[in-house]
Amino acid sequence: MKIIFLGPPGAGKGTQAKLLAERYHIPHISTGDILREVSRNGSTIGQQVRTFMQEGKLVPDEIVTRLVAGRMGSDDARGGFILDGFPRNETQAESLDKLLSETGVLIDLIVYFETKEKTIVSRLAGRRVCNTCGANYHVVNIPPRKEGSCDQCGGALFQREDDKEETVRKRLKVYEQETASLVGYYKKSKKLRVVSGDLELKEGQEALVSLFKKEHLIRD
Ligand code: AMP
Repeated sequence: MKIIFLGPPGAGKGTQAKLLAERYHIPHISTGDILREVSRNGSTIGQQVRTFMQEGKLVPDEIVTRLVAGRMGSDDARGGFILDGFPRNETQAESLDKLLSETGVLIDLIVYFETKEKTIVSRLAGRRVCNTCGANYHVVNIPPRKEGSCDQCGGALFQREDDKEETVRKRLKVYEQETASLVGYYKKSKKLRVVSGDLELKEGQEALVSLFKKEHLIRD
């Protein structure tokens, strides 16, 4: 199962991808997660990456594309993966096409999470992330059992710097300007499918699983 998740920030791509990755034993390749790790490693590149992310801007294409190529080339991605947060503009989409054709990898589906602005804003404002294992929560929709503490590892939950209101507005603008046109780009490939990003966690997961069945990516 080789899938790309496309959609605005707050569409639920990461949360759904994590669940699917566990269920089908494939890696969830999130450029946001990879870049957050790089931004913490203390290197010069790490510091640059951190600044772009804090300002809600896209990290330069060369850096992200190199990281994605490395991750997709690992052994565990051979049988399948969910690519989340990449590509984010046409240059990245073209680099990905090139990488896929060089490595002979075929993408099965591109899933676009069509999402209302109201949903996006409320999801991002309420999102909390575990500082230890990276699990995502939401103060209303997916609350942890104990407030401020991760159900899985007990780590402390925090609000991402770029989920604060002003940066969210900037990220949505960047999405409209740079990423939204990729829906048209992938429509041409006939592999684009649309799901609603407005669904709750469980309904969203069910919609994706039934899509995968319909597309014969998994059995009943
Ligand atoms: P995300 O976790 O996908 O919302 O990404 C968080 C931030 O990481 C974005 O606002 C960007 O600054 C950066 N980022 C993630 N993926 C990419 C990408 N494909 N290209 C450039 N920047 C990215």
